[in-house]
Amino acid sequence: MCGISAIASHRAVADNLLQCLQNLEYRGYDSCGMAIFDGRQIKLRKNVGNVEEVNAAERFKEMQGHIGIAHTRWATHGEVNAANSHPHASNSNEFVVVHNGIFSNYQVLKGQLEAKGYQFFSKTDTEIFANVMEETFKEVGDLELAFRQAVQKMEGSYAIALLSTKDPQRIYAVKKDSPLVIGLSDGANYVASDINAFISETRDTILLEDYEYAILDSAGYQVKRVVDGSASPKQVIRVQWDRQTAQRGGFSHYMLKEIFDQPQTVRSALNIDSRQIETFAEKITQKSRNFCVGVGTTYYVAMIGSYLFKRYADLYVPAISSDEFPSLIPLDEDMHVLFFSQSGETYDTRMAVDAAQKGGAATSAIVNVVGSSISRQVEDCIFQGSGPEICVVSTKAALSQVILLWQIALAVGLKRNQLALKEATRIRDELSRFANSMEQILNEESGFVRQLALQTNKVQNWLFMGKDIYYPIALESALKMKEVTYLHAEGLPAGFLKHGTLAMVDENLYCLFFLPHPSEGGLYRSSLSAMEEVKARKGKVITFCSADNQEAQELADHVFILPSQATAESNPLMQMILAQLFSYYSALHLGLNIDKPRNLAKSVTVG
Ligand code: GLU
Repeated sequence: MCGISAIASHRAVADNLLQCLQNLEYRGYDSCGMAIFDGRQIKLRKNVGNVEEVNAAERFKEMQGHIGIAHTRWATHGEVNAANSHPHASNSNEFVVVHNGIFSNYQVLKGQLEAKGYQFFSKTDTEIFANVMEETFKEVGDLELAFRQAVQKMEGSYAIALLSTKDPQRIYAVKKDSPLVIGLSDGANYVASDINAFISETRDTILLEDYEYAILDSAGYQVKRVVDGSASPKQVIRVQWDRQTAQRGGFSHYMLKEIFDQPQTVRSALNIDSRQIETFAEKITQKSRNFCVGVGTTYYVAMIGSYLFKRYADLYVPAISSDEFPSLIPLDEDMHVLFFSQSGETYDTRMAVDAAQKGGAATSAIVNVVGSSISRQVEDCIFQGSGPEICVVSTKAALSQVILLWQIALAVGLKRNQLALKEATRIRDELSRFANSMEQILNEESGFVRQLALQTNKVQNWLFMGKDIYYPIALESALKMKEVTYLHAEGLPAGFLKHGTLAMVDENLYCLFFLPHPSEGGLYRSSLSAMEEVKARKGKVITFCSADNQEAQELADHVFILPSQATAESNPLMQMILAQLFSYYSALHLGLNIDKPRNLAKSVTVG
């Protein structure tokens, strides 16, 4: 995730572009840059640091010209340095681009371009596109056609803005799975990752859909379809946000915004280069002992991983909390540890990486922050590309790690011949469908979740329960509830209930059951039995099920309705995001400081 903006104007644009960058900085801030056509050529300035620091060093305001593109970066490919920051120019300097997202086929295209003599000066996936543009233009000799054809060569997720000396009065922009909006004003038109960029200049916007591209100059715009270049009529929307709401993309809190970011972050996770997934799967298959290690939310992510490895690869990969890892696990060279950290700086996890490496174990990690300590410590690292998570409690980063783990578990299952290719493909398709249905769930269920959170506002004690993979989801959801509401919420395996905790149940105790999909047979039925145990003692039951599940609805006091297209794969994930929303609205009704809960910090870098 990062912030893109571009302006075609009657006036000089440097000042305005700088303002746009500052407005987008919350989307990514490890480095930034700007490219402006000065009447003869495209000039480019970029460097490492936040917008203020880079502006102090590069003096963006000195740049001359009426058309330009800019970018504030959140690295996914290549470390944080000046060469990797955007914009990126093609070898001839005639095609300059900014990009948000991940080109999953960039290595293949890079190889093809290198064979034709192209050189690369950064480690990013983005630089490839600048040169694919150059090469395609050589072939077709028309910028718009070259743009359409070049875009069709790219796989993955992207929002792109292009400035070219071949048509220097116009900006070309396109999107797929990453956001891009157009802003229209008198004498200047904008392209940006979101309306924050230009909200102080105009409220008139157009939302681009996937595979649509826009061509803008200072006086007008066209929107067309990538596939055939045909016009795509668009409606101009006048947004009513105020400046402060706009900062959070229209949401009242970052937590809510980040919950709603998830369809995009799940798609990014699904678009990760499959060779990275392969490398991890290979390592896991080679070693005789593997562990998944994280702490707090990432420990629960690790636990979800244990169930996935069992399910798809018939492999036991225990999950261990980072803080306990050094005292619990005997180490040797025939083991591999997979670590999880959002920030890549978590102290307990860094110490666990140290311990594992000292003991001779192979290490790898999934982290969100490029260049972070853990990413540098381990031998292999997947950067999840979820973009900055500003709310202290993790939502989108955690779900994205789960999606990556899911793919790794499938790859290990294939390698160990525990899974047929057809089945692995079906599951992957299912995860892609989940990314789409998430938008529907979040939008349709939000009102109900909010209402139920209001009704349960006086509840002081919660039990969150589930079996199998629903157990770590119950644990993670209970942690979320504790973090933002400060209430007692205990996560436990539903099968554990009758072995002690049942003593607590009376009419004042609220139990949230994470219910398997009916197609999960025995698992589903035994979870229903646990719900019966609570009901028999007058406890309150809330659960998740589809509208046609009569038996669950009759048993429960309240249900969160899941879309009928939920399957055994998407069912636990849908419940996870609805539970996030439930915690959010519960804290909202309690009037708490949701984005910065008391006593907590985003990145726990101390022991
Ligand atoms: N993949 C690009 C990079 O690492 C863009 C990252 C982003 O979306 O911020 O530079």
